[in-house]
Amino acid sequence: MSNILEREIKYIGGVGEVRARLLEREVGVRTIGDLLMRFPYRYIDRSTVRSIGEINETMESTFVQIRCRVVGKSFVGEGRKQRFVVEVTDKSGSAELLWFQGAKWIEKRIELHREYMVFGRPSFYHGRLSIAHPEVEPVEQALSRKVESGFQGIYASTERLSQLITVKGMYNIVHNAWQMVASDSKAFADPLPEDMRRRNGLISLREAIYNIHFPQSAEALKSAKYRLKYDELLGVQLTIQARRTERHAKSVGFIFPRVGDNFNAFYHTKLPFKLTGAQQRVIKEIRSDMVSGKQMNRLLQGDVGSGKTMVAFMSMLLAVDNGFQACIMAPTEILARQHYATMSRFAEGLPNVRVAILTGASKARERRAALEGIAKGEVDILVGTHALIEDGVQFMNLGYVVIDEQHRFGVEQRAKLWTKNHQTPHILVMTATPIPRTLAMTLYGDLEVSVIDELPPGRQPIRTYHYYDSARLKMFGFLRQEIAKGRQVYIVYPLIKESEKMDYKDLYDGFESITRDFPLPRYRTTVCHGKMKNEDKEAAMAQFKRGEADILIATSVIEVGVDVPNATVMVIESAERFGLSQLHQLRGRVGRGGEQSYCILMSGDKLSKEGRARLDAMCATNDGFELSELDLKLRGAGDIHGTQQSGDAFELNIANLATDTQIMELTRNEAIAILESDATLDRAEHSGLRTLRDKHRRRERIDFSDIS
Ligand code: ADP
Ligand code: MG
Repeated sequence: MSNILEREIKYIGGVGEVRARLLEREVGVRTIGDLLMRFPYRYIDRSTVRSIGEINETMESTFVQIRCRVVGKSFVGEGRKQRFVVEVTDKSGSAELLWFQGAKWIEKRIELHREYMVFGRPSFYHGRLSIAHPEVEPVEQALSRKVESGFQGIYASTERLSQLITVKGMYNIVHNAWQMVASDSKAFADPLPEDMRRRNGLISLREAIYNIHFPQSAEALKSAKYRLKYDELLGVQLTIQARRTERHAKSVGFIFPRVGDNFNAFYHTKLPFKLTGAQQRVIKEIRSDMVSGKQMNRLLQGDVGSGKTMVAFMSMLLAVDNGFQACIMAPTEILARQHYATMSRFAEGLPNVRVAILTGASKARERRAALEGIAKGEVDILVGTHALIEDGVQFMNLGYVVIDEQHRFGVEQRAKLWTKNHQTPHILVMTATPIPRTLAMTLYGDLEVSVIDELPPGRQPIRTYHYYDSARLKMFGFLRQEIAKGRQVYIVYPLIKESEKMDYKDLYDGFESITRDFPLPRYRTTVCHGKMKNEDKEAAMAQFKRGEADILIATSVIEVGVDVPNATVMVIESAERFGLSQLHQLRGRVGRGGEQSYCILMSGDKLSKEGRARLDAMCATNDGFELSELDLKLRGAGDIHGTQQSGDAFELNIANLATDTQIMELTRNEAIAILESDATLDRAEHSGLRTLRDKHRRRERIDFSDIS
């Protein structure tokens, strides 16, 4: 890197010691290079001057520029509450400029009857336009000032920082910094090989840096962003792909060559239905990993109800048939119990498969049986919760681990399972919260990805409706009809924090109102929530599953995995309080049998924009992948369930994992090709690429290679 970029910012015109210190403390900018690598987060078109009359409420808090004359100025209020008010007009109307701080200083600089350019964020009080703390500049001066570009970049600031450096001040500082850099041709030398740039139609880095700060046109800004995102994502991909190659090279896995008695017996005599094409394909993919000699690390994505459990069970039989133990870890007690029941039933009558369960709620006897069984090799399949990874759980020869509903488990927990063995078992992580493929490739670059993209036959798409609370009676009427047909209903209430008793208030209020509003004929209702004792929870679930209750009133503890095919209606109360993936999960509890199923989203009358977008999306599609793409766009990548930890791993400056999927694909392919010829990027012509890669090496907080 050229020296000029390493110079401290205090040498930039308009900065000095005090501002330099503040910039470093507030936003971590120490050098000229740091400063120029902080890009504007938005731009305003300073070539546009608006008239006061055309500014309306829709422009509130976006920046506007007006040209106006001062017709009055005064101090209003006393002491600390004092503010300085300037009355301005143009031909189209009048407005108020306000200062709550620095009023004395401003007052001296504003002259009555003089004309100014005013720049700031409008707001409206009682229909009157006012601008607080605007930038103000005499018109003659503003018009004579040379600007680098009509678009002015706005840089992220902090409260402290903005007191010392205005929006325009920041722009000027960056401008001065660029002047210093412009004469040094070595600064921002291009890290990408010439042919790669040409192949991908990229402008030079220098051009990109200039245009990101001072866009000469909308077009130029677009090319600049594209180039800078490209560099960033290429760095990410070089990091991930290198690690993946490394892992593959040194990975050793158990080999399960046999398809044995248990698998065959199950497949030929016990399989309760025909596997879907997707299930078959995924089982084959798993099997080919299990004979490859490399340790499998596979992510299985399949929408709710796509039949992941069967894939898990049959692939566990492959391990068992080769003399190894397998385990499956579920995120909740209820789900673990359900898997245990299902798998015990599947295993019945098979030549040699013993199934046990271990959860946090296991009683001493159950616990001892499980622990002894797995230590002595008398248990082949262990089903459980987090309890599986506690110390003291010792397998005799664990060969295969399935983690169900991955989004509930953190990455660290995943890591812990590995260490239970001298040799790492094969791992299958199953998730019903589909992550868009490109994002999965980035977040889980070290995982292979399998997708079940087909639902079992005969499923009818769930119909989803959104009702406002005022239409509650209509909803009850509908429930009556369905129950009369012999179907069962879930009613789910939000649960904000699992730790607070208060949150059950909603549920019990709801329960009461249902038994009150809904008395005839008497419906059999049961309640299930996370604060109940496990036995009670299970009893309630079992009762519902056996068809002995018409309505199950629950919190989102039933979100994942619960399988009651006769339930056809899912009512979600205060649906606007749930996230999109949670709503989709909950909806997945119905539509599991052949009957038409329904999801009813109840909400208050007032909805936020995002809240409405979520409910609309739910009504529009049943496709989990589509919803997760949308979720990603609404919330940003870092927020997606279960990717919190891993989402942080790459702190991106300009690229967006949710939306820059095309660049992600391109850079991924480039990275793979480059690493094939130069795995460590030691070649001289790759020194720039090395820099891009190492930026991310340093930044990463979680090292995925520790996990695999
Ligand atoms: P998920 O992928 O959400 O975990 P499950 O494994 O719980 O889905 O399966 C949902 C339901 O579909 C279960 O009742 C299961 O028995 C049934 N099922 C799974 N695969 C098939 C299939 N190939 N044909 C018919 N039903 C199936
Ligand atoms: Mg499941």
